[in-house]
Amino acid sequence: MRLYELRDYIESKLEVSRFRDYCPNGVQVEGRSEVRRIATGVTASQAVLDAATAWGADAVLVHHGYFWRNEDASITGIKKRRIAHLLQHDVSLLAYHLPLDAHPELGNNAQLARRLGFVEQGRFAEQDIACHGRLVQPQTLAQLTQHIGESLQRAPQVIGDLNFKVARLAWCSGGAQGYFEQAIALGVDAFVTGEISEQNVHVAQETGVAFIAAGHHATERYGIQALGQHLAGQFGFEHRFFDQHNPV
Ligand SMILES: [Zn+2]
Repeated sequence: MRLYELRDYIESKLEVSRFRDYCPNGVQVEGRSEVRRIATGVTASQAVLDAATAWGADAVLVHHGYFWRNEDASITGIKKRRIAHLLQHDVSLLAYHLPLDAHPELGNNAQLARRLGFVEQGRFAEQDIACHGRLVQPQTLAQLTQHIGESLQRAPQVIGDLNFKVARLAWCSGGAQGYFEQAIALGVDAFVTGEISEQNVHVAQETGVAFIAAGHHATERYGIQALGQHLAGQFGFEHRFFDQHNPV
């Protein structure tokens, strides 16, 4: 498939134009015009690029690409090395940020819910990327913590009473700790996201709403994989996901 046909297909599938984002969504670095092998990864780190080009990828698709708003625009240091690597190998980099968090089927939050058995009942927060809903069966916070840890292969950091029963909850993959208060306003028992900040601890303790930090990387592994699998199924691409361990 031609690179820009692929870009156009993903753009309409993920409804990219609906979002105001902090980075460009789509082709961030242009490589060869024909794509057969697609590598996916959470972040376009050097390790993911090295593994993808060693495998012979024509394009690398990630959730966290480059050129974030407010970052230094100079192409120096590690940014130069990463971009030079892509250009030397004639491999494209395509990045999808908020559209990939939000998509109702392939998105990080939809995929996280599927993996963890959360039932989605609605959306909230910025551009409706976050979800709220319920557990299939109410569980104690201890049971829920163990279930999330086993499912994502990373022990979550939890603030709350472990004997407390959780029925309603809200979730948003990645660094969504800033949505905690909006989740509390929905009347949930717990909020699940990737990262936690100092002030979230006090808010959790004073409201009694549990905060579960399940890992930024760990909660964002599934959307980009689902996108890669979808593209492989739809167009016959070879697809491989490159997971680079990240404790945060
Ligand atoms: Zn993220």
